[in-house]
Parts: sequence; structure tokens; C-alpha cells
Amino acid sequence: MQAKKRNTPYGFATRAIHHGYNPQDYHGALNPPIFMSSTFGFKDSGHGTELFSGDAEGYFYHRAGNPTVSVLENRLAELEGAEAGIATSSGMGAITAAFWTLLNSGDEIIADKTLYGCTFSVLQHHIGRFGVKTTFIDMSNPDELARAISGNTRIVYCETPANPNMRLVDIAAIAEICKQYDASFIVDNTYCTPYLQRPIELGADIVVHSATKYLGGHGDLLAGAVIANREMIDQIRSVGLTEMNGAIISSLDAFLIMRGLKTLQLRMDRHSQTALKLAKLLQDHPAVDIVYYPGLVSSPFHQLASRQMSQYGGMIALELKGGIEAGRNFMDALQLVTSAVSLGDAETLVQHPASMTHAKYEPEEREKHGFTDGLIRISVGLEDYDDLATDMSDALSSLKQG
Ligand SMILES: *Cc1c(COP(=O)(O)O)cnc(C)c1O
Repeated sequence: MQAKKRNTPYGFATRAIHHGYNPQDYHGALNPPIFMSSTFGFKDSGHGTELFSGDAEGYFYHRAGNPTVSVLENRLAELEGAEAGIATSSGMGAITAAFWTLLNSGDEIIADKTLYGCTFSVLQHHIGRFGVKTTFIDMSNPDELARAISGNTRIVYCETPANPNMRLVDIAAIAEICKQYDASFIVDNTYCTPYLQRPIELGADIVVHSATKYLGGHGDLLAGAVIANREMIDQIRSVGLTEMNGAIISSLDAFLIMRGLKTLQLRMDRHSQTALKLAKLLQDHPAVDIVYYPGLVSSPFHQLASRQMSQYGGMIALELKGGIEAGRNFMDALQLVTSAVSLGDAETLVQHPASMTHAKYEPEEREKHGFTDGLIRISVGLEDYDDLATDMSDALSSLKQG
């Protein structure tokens, strides 16, 4: 916020609303303008040359930068406690922009065994064609990384909490091992957002996001982000994003994410509060076998979560005593809750990872990678707790006890 000088730093919500934009730069407009312009005119031919060589700062073509997108990028970097960021047209665009920039044939990626389905698919099915080897380990045990890592390890990658089974990774412990080997540690922070967890402050090198989820927060767009130090971001912007995958966000979507950011703190508080209450309710229901939620004291990740996250977030996974059949019947019996993939929206969403978001795993792979065919994933929305509790309790009680 450029307007006034102040010594104490602004709080999270204030920065999520204001950082990097001064209305007086644009006629007092409260919101940053949406620059719908693919190209930007040069002052003269020399200026064009300077912009292309990097000797002058400015905008010349949307794929290389857009003023609306820049406000979002600076704001996201600020919230993650990092120097710089890029916004992308999807989470997969963010992840692959980082991969295509960092990796060479002969390199190795070590990844946690539980990943979002398409991220898993990139590593398990596709990246090997380019001479990059992927090793999956249980990264919730840092000793496994210490044993697996070597001089060939270019990237260490995890989600925490992991999609869909809510396993956690100790970011600080993993970061320490990565530093000894000069490997870039990438954390997918989609489930937490920087309000609940800031991996870079804990030692990670790069944060990636599906901004489609909580950052946007309204289920109306696809977007992603990569956050890191300036040197790394400059490289990822020019190589992975601008020249290799071209996953450029539109200025309208950048604007919509900034609209979402204004309520990020309020929403995450509410998601977390409701999810904790629902997790406890579900855990006590006779039809439920296990609830995976780091806010439950029964979770093996409860202590780590309490240290590493400021709240436990809005995602719950559970297994029913009746297995997959009961899971499908539960989803079909819900009246208020929508059966849909994606997460982080105002609407509570429920889905079945094995046949939906994580169908890219073979059945025997799913077990090896830490989740069962019966797992149900709930993205707890912003509706009244009582209404969600009633809908879920009714749906569970309608199941035949097996
Ligand atoms: C959805 C998701 C992605 C992929 O993001 P898109 O915006 O759908 O491309 C990556 N990681 C996690 C954890 C996700 O939930």
C-alpha cells in the first residue's frame, strides 16, 4: 500500500484487500482496471527493443505480462511471504510451468505418494518420456526422503494436506534435507492458502496453487499460481510459462481472483470452523469408519498440523463402514450438498476420488499411494453448519447398516 508510510506491517486481511494497488493511480477506481489488451503500443521503436531485451520494464504482449495480472501476482507473493509470483490459467499450468523450467533429461523428481490426480499422472505417465525419473515416497516420514535423495534430485514435491487423504508433510523437516542436496522443494499449498500455511516461510523454495479452489473461492474460474524468489520466478515466467506451456491467465480471471482474495480470511475462518464441527459429528456416527481431518485429536497428523497450519482447513475425507457401496449411497442421499469435483467453493461439494479426481491411479496404485476405493472427499462450504449437519446425518442414517 503506497499511500501512507507506516512502520508496523499490515495484517493478512488488509494486505489481501489492498496490497500493491493504489486507487489514485487509476482515477480513484476502488478496483484495479481489467486490461483486456493482448498487445501494448511502444513509445517508439527503441522502446520496443528495450522492452524485449529486458532493459526497460513495461508491458508489450499479454503472454509476457499484463497490468491487471501483475497486481494479482504481487499480492499473492506478498501473502505467501515471498518476493515474486506468477499467475497462470490453471493449477496444472502453474505446476508444469515450474517443471518445464527446472527439469533436464536425466534429472529425478522425488514426490510424496499421494498427489492430486493430474499431478500424479504427469509424474507417473508422462514425464518419463522426457528422461525424467520420478520416485514416490511416503514424505510424511522425512527419513524416507533422506534415504532416497541424491545429487540427481532436482525437485522434491508434495501437497500438504494431501489431496484426497489428508496426510501431512513436515515442511520444515523436508526443506532442511532439500537444502543439503540443492534440490528445489515445491509445495502445493492449494488446500491451505497462505492464510493457513506459508511453506516458503518454513523453508520451501516454491509454492504452487490451484487458484481455482479457495483463492478464487466461488467456483467460477480456473487459475493457478507459482510463488518463489524473484530470480526463480523470472526464470519460470520466461521459460516454463511464456515460452513452454503458455498457460496465461486472462485479466478478467485475475480480477475475479482479487475479488475472491478480499474475503479469503473470512471464508477460510468459516470453512475451518464448520469443517472441524462436521468432522467431529461424522466421526461419532455409527455408519462412519474413519474420518481423516487434521483438526481431530485422533489424527496422527494433529500435532504437526497444529504447528504448521494456523487452522485445519475446510477439507475432510472419510470412509464408511459399508465401503464404496455405502459411499456412493451416501453421496446420492444428500439433498443439500452437491456431488461434484473441485473444492474451496461456497457450496459444500462431495465426491469419490477413486472414480473421479483420482481415477488416473490404477486400483492397485491407489492402495499403494495411501487411499482406498471407499474414500469420500468433502469440501466443506460456507452454508449454515446446522443445515450441513442435518443433511449429512440424514444421508448417513438412510444407509443400511452393513
Ligand atoms: C485442483 C488441484 C490441482 C489442479 O488445479 P487446476 O486448477 O484444476 O488445474 C492441483 N493441485 C491440487 C491440490 C488441486 O486440488
